[in-house]
Amino acid sequence: MFDKILIANRGEIAVRVIRTARRLGIATVAVYSDADRGALHVRVADQAICIGAAPATESYLNGEKIIAAARETGAQAIHPGYGFLSENPDFVEKVEAAGLTFVGPSSQAIRAMGLKDAAKRLMEKAGVPVVPGYHGDTQALVALASKANEIGYPVLIKARAGGGGKGMRLVSDPDAFPDALAAAQREAKAAFGDERMLVEKYIQSPRHIEVQVFGDKHGHAVHLFERDCSAQRRHQKVIEEAPAPGMNEETRIAMTEAAVKAAKAISYSGAGTIEFIVDASDGLRPDRFWFMEMNTRLQVEHPVTEMVTGVDLVEWQLRVAAGEPLPRTQEEITLAGHAVEARLYAEDATRDFLPATGTLHHLHFPDRLDTATLRVDAGVAEKDAITPFYDPMIAKLIVHAPTRAGAVDGLATALEQTEIAGSTVNLGFLARLLRDDDFYAGRLETGLIGRKQDVLTKTAPLQERHLAAAIAATSMAEPSDRPNDPFSAIAGYGHFSSLVHKRTVVHDEQLLEARVSAQADGALAIRLGNDPSDQPIIVRRDDPIRIASWPGHVTVFEGADAVTLRVPDRLQSAEESGAGDRLRAPMPGLVKLVRAAVNDAVRKGQPLLVLEAMKMEHTIAAPHDGIVAEIAAEGAQVNDGAMLVRFQEAE
Ligand code: ADP
Ligand code: ADP
Ligand code: MG
Repeated sequence: MFDKILIANRGEIAVRVIRTARRLGIATVAVYSDADRGALHVRVADQAICIGAAPATESYLNGEKIIAAARETGAQAIHPGYGFLSENPDFVEKVEAAGLTFVGPSSQAIRAMGLKDAAKRLMEKAGVPVVPGYHGDTQALVALASKANEIGYPVLIKARAGGGGKGMRLVSDPDAFPDALAAAQREAKAAFGDERMLVEKYIQSPRHIEVQVFGDKHGHAVHLFERDCSAQRRHQKVIEEAPAPGMNEETRIAMTEAAVKAAKAISYSGAGTIEFIVDASDGLRPDRFWFMEMNTRLQVEHPVTEMVTGVDLVEWQLRVAAGEPLPRTQEEITLAGHAVEARLYAEDATRDFLPATGTLHHLHFPDRLDTATLRVDAGVAEKDAITPFYDPMIAKLIVHAPTRAGAVDGLATALEQTEIAGSTVNLGFLARLLRDDDFYAGRLETGLIGRKQDVLTKTAPLQERHLAAAIAATSMAEPSDRPNDPFSAIAGYGHFSSLVHKRTVVHDEQLLEARVSAQADGALAIRLGNDPSDQPIIVRRDDPIRIASWPGHVTVFEGADAVTLRVPDRLQSAEESGAGDRLRAPMPGLVKLVRAAVNDAVRKGQPLLVLEAMKMEHTIAAPHDGIVAEIAAEGAQVNDGAMLVRFQEAE
């Protein structure tokens, strides 16, 4: 076994590989880009080496730098994780030429499966059923269009070099074929530098079921059962589970045998996945699944397999790479219970899943569940940032229970107990999907999310008592050591009880004014409307409402949804008085325009600068009259909390 390995990746997968290496007594070397200087994977590794600038092409995709880092630190092997260089056969060859071991299959195996057309031809020869369609060399429009007619509509045009759902178009009738082909070609050319296309029969009521396979360097290959990844959005996986709902023994035998046959056909060693498309219009049947592609790496969703088989797949990868035989025979690999995984992303489901960034000022996962086992594979910790440079995945939550209902229910509960503030996340969307009737009943197919997107992305309106609790939280006079408890701060604020405090918050770009007063019993009375006869909302210390306060904001959690209120006057930081007050960036962004200069006298409400963040422009205005002592430079990239404007001290 190796003494030391380098992990050529970042985020949750780098952290996850390090965890197993540590358990096996293997030292770890992390690599990182300038943007990841303080990242979690850097903090948990034994050693870390900077390999370049933030863009992946200059760091995580720079094979030369990564190999140099391995040699410099004396690492004997490189684990590629997934994505980045994990399926790049040229990189594998360079690693081996440097006298190092690549933790993964041979470059030949990766090449054989790298292009979907060649892989399908190879699988056909090996006797594995492949999706009916055209995967030949001719690429002329007329030829492809006539193949589509032969196959019969609807058809799927697919880039042979594709991945991550890109370069793919569903075409329902011949008239739409030319435009769809051109669009898929453009997308594939931009994303993969290869515009060659396959045309496939579009399988009706499709389910995506894949088989985990494992081979060693001694000619053995086994499977570790199947995963269902049919819950997809635009051909990308959202929720994955093992085993597949409704799987029967006959179909399972047919699918796992085909998968092992595929692995053996290319003398596969290491972890791999054979992806099948399944026609589930009449249940799962042994003659209704077809090979789509093989992923020659560890898969994002590998934890569900680990939880139902009790196998640590990263341990197996390391053992096999070191030349050991597979730790178990096929008969020794068994299935127990059901596991479900959700991919937690920084993205805005209400704005068509626009990727989000930001600092995770508050991050809380439940420690455990009552009736199921919870695993959290996170790539970040509280106060870490999601930057625009990489995939915005925050974590994966995986739940194992004796039954599917128990696992699905447990995962929904875990998501509802998770709290994140500082970025927009897909928690609510995931929880609603898990609680959807069709999903819950196991009536899966890849179109489910698209069909129900409206209801799945719709958040309930903020309840008044939650809004009131959030406003109560803004009533802190000064930072306290219990920042989420408005009462602790108010207790130290002698005159508070005799006063009515006006609170201004911004909710959904709307200014809201509320009046807050303390009652004799210590509760807070919040009046949201202007009508003095309105009943106030009473907020008590023991209200089970979850709130997080963070610079300039308060986030209130309701189930798996969260609503963030901006607290404008708290942008001026009280603890820095004496040096003049400051305006801070409410989120990371670009200073697009600067409208004031040092020594300018500005009036309350006067626009000072424009911050472009999350694809929107935010005008930062003066909160009061004053003289500008310092102001950010036009074109500056700022983090959230960064100073934008400082005012001179009042005389
Ligand atoms: P998996 O098949 O392992 O579940 P996906 O199919 O979602 O993973 O993605 C395939 C690979 O592409 C993964 O290794 C992932 O890291 C990478 N990937 C996913 N989405 C993107 C993206 N938007 N840009 C670049 N790479 C991506
Ligand atoms: P990628 O490399 O982008 O993962 P895949 O070939 O694995 O490409 O396909 C991605 C997804 O597209 C599948 O998981 C499935 O949902 C859908 N898909 C692919 N081929 C077909 C098909 N022939 N019929 C129906 N759906 C398909
Ligand atoms: Mg795929």
